Amino acid sequence: MVTDTRLDALRLAVGGEVIDPSHASFDEARSTFNATIDRRPAVVVRPEGTQDVAAAVRWARDTGLPIAVRGGGHNVAGHATADGALVIDLRRQRRVVVDPAARRARVGGGALWEDVDGATTAHGLAMPGGTFVDTGVGGLALGGGLGYLMGTGGLTCDTLVRAEVVTADGGIVIAGENGDPDLLWALRGGGGNFGVVTEFEFALQPVGPLYAGELSVPMDAAGRALEAIASLAREAPPELVIFATGPAVLEPEAGPEVGAEGGAAKPPVFNIAIVFQGSPEDARAAIQPLRSLPIVADTFAVMSYPEVQAMNGQLPFGLRHYWKGHFLRDMEGPAIDAIVRAMTTAPETNSFILIEAITGAARREPAGGAAFGQREARWNVSAIAIWEDPADDARQIGWARDSADAWRSASLTGAGYANYAPVDESPDRVRAAYGPERFARLAAIKRRYDPDNVFRFNLNIPPA
Ligand SMILES: Cc1cc2nc3c(=O)[nH]c(=O)nc-3n(C[C@H](O)[C@H](O)[C@H](O)COP(=O)(O)OP(=O)(O)OC[C@H]3O[C@@H](n4cnc5c(N)ncnc54)[C@H](O)[C@@H]3O)c2cc1C
Repeated sequence: MVTDTRLDALRLAVGGEVIDPSHASFDEARSTFNATIDRRPAVVVRPEGTQDVAAAVRWARDTGLPIAVRGGGHNVAGHATADGALVIDLRRQRRVVVDPAARRARVGGGALWEDVDGATTAHGLAMPGGTFVDTGVGGLALGGGLGYLMGTGGLTCDTLVRAEVVTADGGIVIAGENGDPDLLWALRGGGGNFGVVTEFEFALQPVGPLYAGELSVPMDAAGRALEAIASLAREAPPELVIFATGPAVLEPEAGPEVGAEGGAAKPPVFNIAIVFQGSPEDARAAIQPLRSLPIVADTFAVMSYPEVQAMNGQLPFGLRHYWKGHFLRDMEGPAIDAIVRAMTTAPETNSFILIEAITGAARREPAGGAAFGQREARWNVSAIAIWEDPADDARQIGWARDSADAWRSASLTGAGYANYAPVDESPDRVRAAYGPERFARLAAIKRRYDPDNVFRFNLNIPPA
């Protein structure tokens, strides 16, 4: 327990909010997106600015506490909180400043995607970001970033050009332009290992109307649909991004009426979400190969980028989660069979399989390189277990683990997506995600910036 004297010193040193265990909102402050994570940090601080973050880091070191960093709080492995740690919660740092002429956005370390999208689209610009607007920019960008603009814009981390970072000694360094290019490389996929990013600077791209929506097919056609999207992705133009989910529930207004009361109990479907950056004519031509599938609902329409970003809605905090998957070299015969089996055995709660195509610019290393090491994969396939009742933990976690194991033979590296990692992700899978060369370079950069592994509540890269 931290003494009152030390807590007073924290309050004096750091502008912002200090929430210790006696505070009425401590339980809210220590909770994160995934309700299976139940940890008690020593104290939570919500600093105002960069200097306050630096003061908080120095205070933690003087007090002998480890540090956990919280952006949007969505990490399923619960890295944003830790027992006995100082949590640096960046929620007061959500400022986004857009320079439309330079096509750049400076983004506070605790911003959410809704902050970024709102500020950038006001100028007809956007960047490839997450597909749920209430998730954090910080965790998502540092771990890669799969989103609806990645075919033309690359992964989110590829668009990071500069970052302001508070390092383990409480110093402030710049990564990228006019700073350390090695640190920028490490931040592009190396996660929260290197310090607290208080400001990101991203490159933006123009974004006009998009052609987007979902095609739904009955679950018994899911195998055919997977073959069709696998073939489409191999030839896809960069403007086309494909995500699929199953089993999924049809929206009440979509698809044929089923059941005596009409529409109350629609059977689950396999959903193919497509976003195309171009004219409706080009979009229709690009997705024509999918038209031979037995489509039961089709929501395609011309949409603005904010409308596309709203397609997924929001998932509330407080549900239980365990996610596990693999980046696949390609999606073919045995992997497709395994994915279909996993979808048909998904627990009848909200659990499903998420299938994301890696296409276009996301498959190309950006200028200056990136630590992210799995872009040669064509697909990221993950079992997403979501439930409410703790009594269901073993069944849900077992399903997600067994499902991911079932398509392991098609895995590019033996690893999944860092940003979807489960709470018990193994050090072997963390290493495999980067491969030996990238991992060694990351470990060397870690030694330079965090030799004592102060930032260790993450997919950890121990200092070389
Ligand atoms: C509902 C939902 C939808 C999602 N959709 C997508 C998606 O479309 N695309 C995608 O790629 N991923 C997606 N993800 C995964 C997402 O990328 C990760 O959950 C990510 O960790 C969320 O970032 P966060 O800042 O909210 O997380 P947090 O839990 O706050 O942070 C996770 C970790 O990231 C690091 N971190 C965060 N911010 C900073 C910072 N400023 N400086 C240093 N380290 C920091 C820290 O190590 C921290 O512990 C989704 C997750 C959820 C739950």
